[in-house]
Order: sequence, then C-alpha cells, then structure tokens
Amino acid sequence: MIRGTIIVAEDICKGCELCITACPQESIGLSDRMNNLGYRVVHLVLDNCTGCVNCALVCPEGAITVYRTKKTGKAESKTSVGVEQ
Ligand code: SF4
Ligand code: SF4
Repeated sequence: MIRGTIIVAEDICKGCELCITACPQESIGLSDRMNNLGYRVVHLVLDNCTGCVNCALVCPEGAITVYRTKKTGKAESKTSVGVEQ
C-alpha cells in the first residue's frame, strides 16, 4: 500500500489553487496563512494523499514536493518524487 504526503514551499506558493483542483483525493485546501508575498498558501486538509503527484505536476511555481511511503513488510521506504522545473 502506498501512502503519500506533500510539503508545500510556502514562501513561493501563490495561492492559485491549481493543485486543489488537480487533486483527485480533495486532500488540499487553502489555509488561513499568508506568505511574505501576500498570498494565502495551501496545505493538506485530509490525511488521504496517495502520492499521485498530480498537484506537483500542475503547480506553476514548483512549490510542491510529494513524498511516498511504501510499506514493504516491516520496512518502510520514503521517496521524494518532487518535480524539477
Ligand atoms: S500527491 Fe495526489 S493525492 Fe496527494 S495531495 Fe497531491 S494530487 Fe492530492
Ligand atoms: S499550484 Fe502551486 S502556487 Fe498554486 S496554490 Fe498550489 S502550491 Fe500554491
């Protein structure tokens, strides 16, 4: 089973909401926090991310890094699947 999570680089997020629209799990939402650029930033609102990477692919700022945790028996491996722009 693969689970995922995302890290948002809040300093460069522009609150465009493209990632919210692209997420099939509806895992992402706007937070109440504003960054130094004056944009409301996004964050995970549900703990159901599958690590599909859609959000990172659509982000025009390259602000999202996706991490996948794969359960392999007792061991877990964590992989960063961020998208280079
Ligand atoms: S990796 Fe996929 S499931 Fe996870 S937050 Fe991004 S779009 Fe949603
Ligand atoms: S797509 Fe990128 S810039 Fe737009 S809200 Fe999501 S993380 Fe921020």
